[in-house]
Amino acid sequence: MTFPDAATLLAPLGPWFQAARRPMPWRMDDLDRPHADPYVVLVSELMLQQTQVATVIPYFQRWLARFPDLETLAGAGEDDLHRFWAGLGYYRRARLLQAAARAVLAGGWPRDLAGLQALPGLGPYTAAALGAQAFQWPTAALDGNAFRVLARLLALEGDPRPAAPALRTWLTPALVRIGPSRLTQAIMELGATVCAPAPRCPDCPLQGQCRARLEGSAHRLPPAVPRTPPRAIDLLLVAIASPEGWLLRPPAGQGLLAGLWGWPWLEPGPAAGAAEDSADPEVPSRSWPGWVQVYTHRRETIHPAGFRLKAPRPAPAGLVWVPAATLRGLPMGKRDQRLREHALAADAFAGGPGSGAPVPWQALAEALWGSPAS
Ligand code: SF4
Repeated sequence: MTFPDAATLLAPLGPWFQAARRPMPWRMDDLDRPHADPYVVLVSELMLQQTQVATVIPYFQRWLARFPDLETLAGAGEDDLHRFWAGLGYYRRARLLQAAARAVLAGGWPRDLAGLQALPGLGPYTAAALGAQAFQWPTAALDGNAFRVLARLLALEGDPRPAAPALRTWLTPALVRIGPSRLTQAIMELGATVCAPAPRCPDCPLQGQCRARLEGSAHRLPPAVPRTPPRAIDLLLVAIASPEGWLLRPPAGQGLLAGLWGWPWLEPGPAAGAAEDSADPEVPSRSWPGWVQVYTHRRETIHPAGFRLKAPRPAPAGLVWVPAATLRGLPMGKRDQRLREHALAADAFAGGPGSGAPVPWQALAEALWGSPAS
């Protein structure tokens, strides 16, 4: 298939973006110059990986207030990083961002795309997006939105991702002619707001030349990628207090929740009929209404519960007692933050068993300590 000239085809996107662009705190008004602060673009691109713009904006603003430049970020402690990233998910990104800041401080900003791609946390898309927006390099950034727009414009059948090298080559002259930052952001914006999965072709500046629209195939292109449904898991998430503090999992070095403190949990959660197991007058307890926490590969049904031990006891393997006064300041993921709010409420253990599921203390104690003793 021959492609039409990219610069001519995409020319309407420049003026359209000038008028339609949404304000974002990392966007410069002047789209023709390199960005005044590449660090700002780096932070925004790392945060936008896997996360929507509306979610990112408040995190971005808090992050920039706390870590306004490469030097501040490079010197920050890991707990501080995770505290300001907590709730955004994919916490590894915070540490990669810091590693990238340290690499730039050590060697300066890279001078080409390969150099950007060698920075920690920057794959081909992020490096190209940074190159175009921060430095005005004609580096074609292809993410899901861009692939969708281009697949429809050119009526590409099948998965467009294998065509990435050809699409990058095709886009490059248009980036040069229209402006790298302007065109890159315009394609992103069009994919996010108009050429969305359900396209709004009557509002599109490219409707006159879009092959998929002209052929009537816009709604089925590109074909949906089959996804494995997330694994459903039941979790009993527990806040256990004793005279020594709260029982917590220290941060792991890697994985989904790397760098974050967490509550002990048991999988599966409370079995049906656990009510008879729960009553123990020596261990005041309560439960709270559960919720569902969805990650890319997991769908957790959380059963939150709290217990108060009257006497100290050694922490089980892999867990530690943390003084109560430090609990609030620890970096935690969304799931664990939510239980922390319950645990720190003044009436956490007042007023009986609460409104969630019954709490299987004996089974929990046995699982954690290997004995049901209170
Ligand atoms: Fe997408 Fe429709 Fe615009 Fe084509 S005309 S680029 S399908 S919104």
